[in-house]
Amino acid sequence: YIGSNFARRALAEGVDVVVFDNLSRGHREAIPEKAAFFEGDLLDKESIGRCFAEYEIDAVVHFAAFAYVGESVENPALYYENNVVGSFNLIDAARRADIRRFVFSSTCSIYGNPERVPISEDEPDKPINPYAQTKLAIEHMLRDYSAAYGMRYAALRYFNAAGAAFDGETGESHDPEPHLVPITLNTAMGKRDKIFIFGDDYPTPDGTCVRDFIHVDDLADAHLLALKYLEDGGESTVINLGTGDGNSVKEIIQRAEKITGKKIPTETAPRREGDPARLVADNAKAKKLLGWKPKHDADAVLESAWRWHQNQRY
Ligand code: UDP
Repeated sequence: YIGSNFARRALAEGVDVVVFDNLSRGHREAIPEKAAFFEGDLLDKESIGRCFAEYEIDAVVHFAAFAYVGESVENPALYYENNVVGSFNLIDAARRADIRRFVFSSTCSIYGNPERVPISEDEPDKPINPYAQTKLAIEHMLRDYSAAYGMRYAALRYFNAAGAAFDGETGESHDPEPHLVPITLNTAMGKRDKIFIFGDDYPTPDGTCVRDFIHVDDLADAHLLALKYLEDGGESTVINLGTGDGNSVKEIIQRAEKITGKKIPTETAPRREGDPARLVADNAKAKKLLGWKPKHDADAVLESAWRWHQNQRY
């Protein structure tokens, strides 16, 4: 989802892209036509080596991971193998191929239940589920590789990635779908009867969780800027990517009703385990180091996603 959107934006900026994917949870239709495609698997070291031998690669942008918190709690083995072992294979293959620049998709869930919100990169790392543990393990791997082998990386800690390309060409399509924005819009479409609000007794203004929804185009921009930062000699670093603004679950549903013109039925359900009350980014570091500025707000997220959902290609 995030990778295909980045690939399109990078190609539009004149960057050559080789997509490496096993298509286990991705969609072939999401691969941009102009990108080269190598069907390989991060758990198959040899396939990574072949890809690096076939193409001249300057930098790796690593999006490949399983990303369902609930699944990671039920089946951590799957997550440690796919995310940690797969990433190790990739990072090590990059070292052996002498690829020195690496951009990694990390997550704000590394902060667990943060003590201070907005959350800066100084907040301690306290993951509370196996998914976040795997992402932190990969960051540590990169840190050690950076110190020992001179590989430089930017670990980008996304807040809630959402929205779709404004031309409706790429968007979010997960099965099962755990995320708030697509579930809300699928309910507006009539594909679901109602949306369950997981907890309305949080210590927030309306009692529902507050999240920082960051548009995938803004994420794509940040990746391009991170590549440039590394190309210009920037040091290895960890950077939060969020808008700095929070929206509650109820607010998102209300805004979606306005944008879609549909009634979106809700039902209050128990809290979902492991959901912190508020996750909002302090994005000062991204602004300062990368010169990045998010352009889209929650309404743009919902508008673009609504366009995608009404005419979903995959
Ligand atoms: N959420 C909800 N109902 C749903 C899906 C999500 O109330 O059907 C809430 C969830 O509890 C969280 C917020 O929406 O507070 C965002 O959840 P999502 O899974 O989209 O992203 P996360 O914050 O877990 O990365």
